[in-house]
Amino acid sequence: MKVLVVMGTRPEAIKLAPVAAALRRRKDLKTLICATAQHRELLDQVLRQFRLRPDFDLDLMRPGQSPEAVAKRVAASLGPLLARQKPDMVVVHGDTITAAAAALCACGRDIPVAHVEAGLRSFDFKDPFPEELNRVFIDALSSLVFPPTPQAKINLTREALGGRMMLMTGNTVVDALLSAEGGQAPKPLNPQEVLVTLHRREIHGKPLIRIYTSLLKLVNRHENLLFVYPVHPNPMVLNTAKRMLQHPRIRLLPPLSYPDFLAHLKRSLFVVTDSGGVQEEAVCLGKPVLVVREKTERPEVLASGAGRLVGLDPARLERWVTRLLTDPALRRKMGRRRGLYGDGRAAERIAAGIAHWFGLGPRPKEWRA
Ligand code: UDP
Repeated sequence: MKVLVVMGTRPEAIKLAPVAAALRRRKDLKTLICATAQHRELLDQVLRQFRLRPDFDLDLMRPGQSPEAVAKRVAASLGPLLARQKPDMVVVHGDTITAAAAALCACGRDIPVAHVEAGLRSFDFKDPFPEELNRVFIDALSSLVFPPTPQAKINLTREALGGRMMLMTGNTVVDALLSAEGGQAPKPLNPQEVLVTLHRREIHGKPLIRIYTSLLKLVNRHENLLFVYPVHPNPMVLNTAKRMLQHPRIRLLPPLSYPDFLAHLKRSLFVVTDSGGVQEEAVCLGKPVLVVREKTERPEVLASGAGRLVGLDPARLERWVTRLLTDPALRRKMGRRRGLYGDGRAAERIAAGIAHWFGLGPRPKEWRA
């Protein structure tokens, strides 16, 4: 049986790397990897890191690309590839345009789709856009869904779409994190180091300017505070960051390798982020997380007490950063390590689930038909 794993962006590659490895360990499956390279530089960094060599590279990234243009290019290149290769299953992850377009191409050719990290919902198609739309769409097209958490499983069960097999697995981010620990971070120069990642479409423009103004106010107010910010290469973010964030205690870095990013996360007091994956990693590593978004598809981060949704309101962000800097008891309470995302064996379960789907292995305990 031939399985094609499709990935296009940094977070997909990080979370699919353990899945591709687990599938490749199975001798009864032939696993091929297709990189759409919806992101080029960031994807390549992760592919190198995890020693993943794609069998097909569609090299689709173009400067200033819109989601529609990416979808069109994925469909135009992946369609003929599926026609040539005839895989028995296409595996996609999460909520990117790559994943949605790949699922559509596969479905149109009667190739079953397996969706890793299925069932996440913000319940607002416009926030985040187009990710929420992509998640619902991919789950509707999938024959096999792998929700990472009990909540994601509930979301999928409520949708009651027939004919879909489901296996709750945990999140493969834990598998990735365990395999990549041990990176480098220079010795802390400031006692209060805080990691920042901000790049999503929802904050481009005025919200980003307001949030950067808050970061400047905060470093001026707290003399021991250092923000460490690996900046996403998207010009909408990078140009604004370079123009505005000129301060000796705001360290702008190029995108870090995954192990180095984890090393920085481990030694920061807490993290300010709008990234989904970084929220999960922070929870796993016991770091409080301030989520700079209005809506979340990861309610467990908030419900567990590990994170706060500060939204795009700069005053709220300033209040929360100040609280966390000045209240070690609160930091300890929010920063307990929590096993919300599983035990690091999600990829193995996914590979076993796919094998069972093909009749090649036993029925996993949590399997739901
Ligand atoms: N990440 C990384 N290096 C960096 C910044 C982030 O390896 O300099 C990782 C991070 O650990 C997380 C993922 O990239 O696993 C998040 O990707 P991104 O922020 O691009 O996407 P999002 O999560 O917002 O979809």
